[in-house]
Order: sequence, then structure tokens, then C-alpha cells
Amino acid sequence: MVHGDDQGLILPPRLAPHQLVLVPIFKNDEERTAVLAAALKLRSELADAGTRVKLDEREGVSPGFKFNDWEMRGVPLRLEIGPKDLAKGSVVLARRDRPGREGKSFVSQQGLPAAVAKLLEEIQQSLFDRALEFRKAHTVDAGYYDELKSAVETGFASSWWCGDAGCEEKIKEETKATMRCIPLEQPGGTGKCVYCGKPATEKGIFARAY
Ligand SMILES: [Zn+2]
Repeated sequence: MVHGDDQGLILPPRLAPHQLVLVPIFKNDEERTAVLAAALKLRSELADAGTRVKLDEREGVSPGFKFNDWEMRGVPLRLEIGPKDLAKGSVVLARRDRPGREGKSFVSQQGLPAAVAKLLEEIQQSLFDRALEFRKAHTVDAGYYDELKSAVETGFASSWWCGDAGCEEKIKEETKATMRCIPLEQPGGTGKCVYCGKPATEKGIFARAY
């Protein structure tokens, strides 16, 4: 499943090379020194707790540029830290899967690694749910081969399959659709294989790969 929106990719936390990007915000050298010291400390705490974290220390580009850049690359979580956050002992966390204010939260620096781990789990689950919803909304129950053929033109086909790899291979040759998965929740009962018509006890989800 591919995740994305108008801003680019959204990587599921479990797959993301960088799960969290830390963007320091400052206007002068004094702020820079203080913010970077705090950022380095948080980076090591997060890394020690097992989060794959990247500190964006690039000079000469604005925080806004960095935000957009990492959004496009799909990093699931962004941590912003500036002088105001230092004063409050907190940071801002922004979820990639929920753009704008809705996905932002203020989190204490105390116990941050646990809060980050929990949020990454939530993002993982939310993306999974979204992908499942998308698949359900675009899946046609295809009992006949012609139905499967037209369903995979635009989405997914859910069809009985006899379990024979030969049928799967033929479907692939003729429609370019492959079996994406056999859902864990099977409808039960039996049907006829969408390709050969032999008795089938499993349904598979067929779709084209792009
Ligand atoms: Zn078959």
C-alpha cells in the first residue's frame, strides 16, 4: 500500500528510515547555542529509546523549508524546538499523517521518548486503518472473471480462488492483476474459483501493481 497526499509521501513509522526529524528553530547565535544543546540532548534520549531520529542541522535554510522538505520525504513525525519551547520545557510534535494544526501537539521534554513511541504507534495504526478503508471502498466482489477484469481496471477485486498457483498465474497474464493478499477474515463457506470454476474455500484480493 502506498501512502501519500498532496505534500508527498507518508511513510509508516515501522518502515521509515527516519521516524522523527528534529528541527531546531532560532534567530541568533545565543538562541542557536541553547536550542542546539537541548536538541542534541533530546536526540540522544530518543535514539537510546530506539527511535530512528534525524537532527536537521543544515545552515542557511529556514525551518519552513526544512518542514516542507521532510514532509515531502514522508518522515512520520517532526519535532520543533525553539526558544519559547525551551522556556516551557516542552517541544512541538507534528504528525505527517495529519497536516496542519490538527496534527500538532505540545509535549513535555520530560518523558519525551515514551510519548514519541506512543505517537509513532498511533500513526502506524492510523495509516493501516486508512489503507484498509481505502481498499474496502475500492474493492468489488467479483464472482465472474469478467467482473474481476473490469474491477482491476480501477481498483481491487475480491474473488474466490481454488488455491492453484496456475489460476493465479493465468489471471496475472491476462489481466496484469496479481493476488495482493488472502484476507485473514474469510467469509467462510465455499465458492467457485473465479478462473477455473473449481470449488474454492478462500477468497483473494486481486489488483494491478503500479
Ligand atoms: Zn482455479
